[in-house]
Amino acid sequence: MTWLTRGGVIAAGAVGVGVTWGLGWPGLIVLAAFLLSGSLLTQFAEHRAPSRTGRQVLANGGVALVAAVAGAWPAAAGAIAAAAADTWATEIGAFSPFPPRLITSWRRVARGTSGGITALGTLGAAAGAVTIAWLTQALAPKGMAPLFPIVASAGIIGMLADSLLGATLQGKFECPACDARFERGNTICHEPVLLTRGLGWLDNDGVNFAATLVGAAVGLVGSRLSRP
Ligand SMILES: [Zn+2]
Repeated sequence: MTWLTRGGVIAAGAVGVGVTWGLGWPGLIVLAAFLLSGSLLTQFAEHRAPSRTGRQVLANGGVALVAAVAGAWPAAAGAIAAAAADTWATEIGAFSPFPPRLITSWRRVARGTSGGITALGTLGAAAGAVTIAWLTQALAPKGMAPLFPIVASAGIIGMLADSLLGATLQGKFECPACDARFERGNTICHEPVLLTRGLGWLDNDGVNFAATLVGAAVGLVGSRLSRP
């Protein structure tokens, strides 16, 4: 079982080196907790689990990399918490006995639809955010703003941004022949799929990147506001 493609390995290595360079081994432990928990949950939840590409790894870890190299603990941990919340929500939400509802219109949608949420998945998101926040509080240098509430909030708000963008701006496609729905514009079903909603260029990776950016921003703003 391979978690990463060759490009994924290179991207994950770059994120790991950058985070360690910027935040030291405590930062690497927080990052590793996210990567390992995500991989274990994925393996536990489903057997298909395609290997992650470099693009997917950077969509989840690129913002944390930049924040860590800048030495910004709250922003880096906020981005990692948002990525963890989204991953835990997806994997734990897969066990929901009820189909998801769209976060915007509240109508029922098929499992796996971007923007669809379940109660179980939302609890999973909170657990992922709290886990990263707790580790950050325990490992980051003392004397900073209270990182637990800031990073936990960053993770949960980032996850909400992920669901909202997934429900609204993320591109949705349909096969003109059979009405099957897709989230990738380069898919060919009976015919090449057509864009029916959202922005054609904004895919799941773009939404994940935006959500980690929101997590980083909440971390940064929260730490500024709570500075004594
Ligand atoms: Zn079709």
